Amino acid sequence: MAKKRILSGMRPTGKLHLGHYVGALENWVKLQNEYDNFHLIADYHVLTTNLNTDDIYQNSIEMAIDWLASGINPEKSPIFRQSQVKQHTELNLIFSMLITASRLERNPAVKDQVRDLKIENIAFGHLGYPVLMAADILLYKGNVVPVGDDQIPHVEIAREMARKFNNQYGFVFDEPETLLTKFSRLMGLDGDAKMSKSLGNSILLSDEPEIVKSKLKKAVTDTQKVRKGDPGRPEICSIFSYQQRFNEGETVEIEAGCRSGALGCFDCKMKCASKISSFLEPILEKRNYYENRLDEVKNVLNEGEKTARATAESTMTEVRTKMKLG
Ligand code: SF4
Repeated sequence: MAKKRILSGMRPTGKLHLGHYVGALENWVKLQNEYDNFHLIADYHVLTTNLNTDDIYQNSIEMAIDWLASGINPEKSPIFRQSQVKQHTELNLIFSMLITASRLERNPAVKDQVRDLKIENIAFGHLGYPVLMAADILLYKGNVVPVGDDQIPHVEIAREMARKFNNQYGFVFDEPETLLTKFSRLMGLDGDAKMSKSLGNSILLSDEPEIVKSKLKKAVTDTQKVRKGDPGRPEICSIFSYQQRFNEGETVEIEAGCRSGALGCFDCKMKCASKISSFLEPILEKRNYYENRLDEVKNVLNEGEKTARATAESTMTEVRTKMKLG
């Protein structure tokens, strides 16, 4: 039986951080043996919030390097840039005729973005980005979408697009299923609930041990624990959340030491920095390999783009035939 197919992607906005690894990449690497994966560098999606394209190519290369260094195998899972497969825009246009503006305005994910980014007049393309996402998935006949609870509305729109197209023109698309995945989140160095590059509270996959150490030194911990001897509250401390993820074997001892005051924050941070750097070491090694062989990275993208274009064109041939546009 043919493997089910997954389309997963990220917007190329710069070097990736540990939050990306824990929240997505780790899962992608696991899924690549079980599913047929396509990995999309969603460069068109960047335009929804940033019209400046000066860094988009370099950011796409950095993202490809981070993916490869984290264990994505391009032989199994093609990596490609969305902008290099023009069929995305063609299917997006067709789908955008099958959905109303009011349906998109009701999408809770779009509503959250409008609120969080304080957008007064949303761009037409931003409002319609879930339709572009539907085109991204269905172009490759993606039948499984791994998502967290907050992204279920996007899969609903992809399912709706498949249904509407099939009803109007004849069957082309299976409705993709949701693979509800518990995506882990890492706290930010500033104590924020989420690690995010734009908030400046992240540890990059490319950070050398000295940088990890200096970032952790400045990290916010329990503000009530001023010096060694003061009892602390590990449950509100980002450093403890990293210990739980990267130093699992010592968490009981660290928690007890923090609560009793026997463990000081400086020692705790240095222990944590060393564990994070050990975790990053193989990723950094592979990153260095690819950074010194950019032609190899570009070749991975070229090959991925060829595979993606061939798959996308085969879907669009069916679409055009059903629509009598062939
Ligand atoms: S001892 Fe460790 S866990 Fe406790 S507050 Fe300090 S850094 Fe956080």
